[in-house]
Amino acid sequence: MKIALFPGSFKPPHSGHLKVVETIMKKYNPDKFYIIISKRPRLLVVPYELKLAQFSEKEMENIAKRQSKIRLALIRLAAGTYGVCHICGEDIPMLRLEQVPFTEKCIECKSS
Ligand SMILES: [Zn+2]
Repeated sequence: MKIALFPGSFKPPHSGHLKVVETIMKKYNPDKFYIIISKRPRLLVVPYELKLAQFSEKEMENIAKRQSKIRLALIRLAAGTYGVCHICGEDIPMLRLEQVPFTEKCIECKSS
């Protein structure tokens, strides 16, 4: 079984992260892909559970929300629907994707 690990702070997640994921998926086609969100950039690699145990409840909620958004963006990437607004079906402008890479709505649909 091939397992890919992608640790980082992802604060904020951006199109460069998605490009890395896309490249790893194409080149290595791993069976499992773990995105490990660290609290601080360049945090030494420690077991994931240990790292999470050091966070407050509020921090854990924020991490879980961010993980969920990234996971959904990766699913859309794999499904070929990344960058398409799930409300109106229009392409989400690149500028918005660069600012909020895990967004699933264009700015007009987000605002309405
Ligand atoms: Zn829209």
